Amino acid sequence: MTPFSGVGKAVTLEEVGLRDGLQGEARLFSVEEKVALARLLMDAGVRKLQIGAFVRPDWVPQMANTEEVFKALPERKDVTYTALVLNETGLERALSAGVTHLYVAASASNAHSLKNLNRPMPEAVKGVARIVDHAKKEGLHVRAGIMVAFGCPFEGPVPVERVLEIAERFADAGADVIDLADTAGLANPKQVYKLVVTVRSELEGGSLSLHLHDTRGLGLANLLAGLQGGVTHFDTSVGGIGGCPFIPHAAGNIPTEDAVLMLEEMGIETGIHLPRLCEATKWLETRLGRVLPAKVSHLPA
Ligand SMILES: [Zn+2]
Repeated sequence: MTPFSGVGKAVTLEEVGLRDGLQGEARLFSVEEKVALARLLMDAGVRKLQIGAFVRPDWVPQMANTEEVFKALPERKDVTYTALVLNETGLERALSAGVTHLYVAASASNAHSLKNLNRPMPEAVKGVARIVDHAKKEGLHVRAGIMVAFGCPFEGPVPVERVLEIAERFADAGADVIDLADTAGLANPKQVYKLVVTVRSELEGGSLSLHLHDTRGLGLANLLAGLQGGVTHFDTSVGGIGGCPFIPHAAGNIPTEDAVLMLEEMGIETGIHLPRLCEATKWLETRLGRVLPAKVSHLPA
């Protein structure tokens, strides 16, 4: 056994910049712009793209054009488009838009659930389990996330038992993948490794993914710990754009290019072409008028 015994040869990086990244931006991106960014990402080799959210447009105006974005995206057999849904209304919208892969999520803390979903935690968990069940009956692929699984900025530590309970609930409802989300970026590598191993053994090898934020600069270290715990599916965002609008000071996801560089140099395939990905970051920076947090995009060529 070495520290890398559990590490696979390839990973999936699900690009969430168009959803988690853009949702907090004041500058609204048009359908054409979102499709242009999606194309740049696909040209770079991204094969899983979370392209939007079916949530209340008055709460998250940036996501209001998700239907149109879906319609305007090229049909590609080698690319999976996913979207976030948080309630039954969202699911109905996703179904009529023809979305085949859903990301759903509930919080593991009551305070975050009230702020983010406007519902107490037990109710939100129950609701999401119902959506998973419904979506599975409609033949969709569902990844079910547990937000603030590694700690809540409002409530503090989140008991492992609670995360396990929610994971089991979602798995029982038929979720294809359980996602552990460090929504506020409070996780540390040891904690990530332990929770990943615990949840994986509880789910008896069921598929697990990680959604990590880089609030305290621990994103890549946490990704590595997840990798060592056997996870092969991670959410990252181009340029490291993002941050939960309902969490003060939350930074973006792990920058996709920084994750690609680390993984490829370790001999782990991502399928992503780094220089082309950096073009996508530059495109985004031009539109946002600021430099994004990614390291790799800003190194001399
Ligand atoms: Zn997030």
